[in-house]
Amino acid sequence: MTPKDIEHLIQQHPLVDNLIKLQETTWFNPKITPLKEGLPFVGLTTKDVQDASQRLARFAPYLCKAFPETAISKGIIESEIVAIPKMKVALEARYHAKIAGNLLLKKDSHLPISGSIKARGGIYEVLTHAEKLAIKHGLLTEKDDYSQLFSDKFKQFFSQYSIAVGSTGNLGLSIGIMSAKLGFNVSVHMSADAREWKKQKLRSHGVNVVEYEQDYGVAVEQGRKAAQSDPNCFFIDDENSQTLFLGYSVAGERVKKQFEEMNIKVDKDHPLFVYLPCGVGGGPGGVAFGLKLAFGDNVHCFFAEPTHSPCMLLGVYTGLHDKIAVQDIGIDNITAADGLAVGRPSGFVGRAMERLLDGFYTISDQHMYDLLGLLNQQEQIQLEPSALAGMIGPLRIEGDKSYLNQIHASPEVMKNATHLVWATGGGMVPEQEMKKYLSLAK
Ligand SMILES: *Cc1c(COP(=O)(O)O)cnc(C)c1O
Repeated sequence: MTPKDIEHLIQQHPLVDNLIKLQETTWFNPKITPLKEGLPFVGLTTKDVQDASQRLARFAPYLCKAFPETAISKGIIESEIVAIPKMKVALEARYHAKIAGNLLLKKDSHLPISGSIKARGGIYEVLTHAEKLAIKHGLLTEKDDYSQLFSDKFKQFFSQYSIAVGSTGNLGLSIGIMSAKLGFNVSVHMSADAREWKKQKLRSHGVNVVEYEQDYGVAVEQGRKAAQSDPNCFFIDDENSQTLFLGYSVAGERVKKQFEEMNIKVDKDHPLFVYLPCGVGGGPGGVAFGLKLAFGDNVHCFFAEPTHSPCMLLGVYTGLHDKIAVQDIGIDNITAADGLAVGRPSGFVGRAMERLLDGFYTISDQHMYDLLGLLNQQEQIQLEPSALAGMIGPLRIEGDKSYLNQIHASPEVMKNATHLVWATGGGMVPEQEMKKYLSLAK
């Protein structure tokens, strides 16, 4: 984009100027519609989510055996929801504002196998691919006990095939570990910002790690190219995959069940607000889709991004989606928030979900570190920086009375609100790395 193009863009979309100046920005989405009207634009249905859920149930006996840490949940990969009341008090004190309602944390940070939200979508897509191959070759039917996949016979079968993916780290961990366990040859194409410990962990699982000096977009492109030259190689396309999206979406019905067990009501008088850190968009998009199906118009979803990588906000706000990258307007896409360092949003998620999301906001890296320190201090829960992007969400909405009016959330109603902060990663960060993160908190 030329300076003149950028000037023109700012004239039409004034918040672009705030983004360029790296100011923390909140945008409440005027394109939001009731679920009924927005749903057809997603192109996926409740039935697709149920299929995904059933597929994960078929694989549960396999996961139980292959990853014994999943045995306590009978092979279902799911995380806890915990109340963080001390954090709520600390946030109120720090920001001199009240948070009406309850503050909860969804600990995808502590999901088994790969310690991040990617243990949903990434693992699901690998399982889907494995199932397809095994069924196609007459080795498996949907009625079989899938624990038989944990065998030399199947490992040998899958070793004829390869899987490739581009990643900033966490998707690579999920897909790499899962693929290698099944027996696939797997290559993870890693962007420059990927952490050394993630690469080491993958290599220790027998994964081929390919390193790039460029960002996520380049790693994905190179991974795609490498896969094209090999007909037995399956490329997992984080930028466009509906399978990944569906793997994430199963979270909706799971949260609904967890809330029922916790006696947490969600209805017109008990709204649910969910704050989801966003990179390319598949994770938060899929989870938000599942939540909308589970709770309808009573759930309000927000995407949170670093000030240096506001790709989804930029794409949806300008309507340009994947036709614009943050670099086009001079933003560097350099952030400490692993998984969120994405310059160009998914071409699919923004278009699919833009009518179902209440808003988007950005947060600075220093702010994420500060919240990381505060959560550790108040609740003894340790997360990676990206996972804190959601934590400021309740304050952003409390600060905007016109938004609350628009959704009919009176102070009476907000007293019954539930704020669910989606903690997307951090469970596997080595102690030394965590110490570094904590030392950066102010
Ligand atoms: C990948 C990731 C996200 C966001 O998911 P996208 O699908 O890239 O939008 C958020 N937090 C962490 C820790 C991640 O690894």
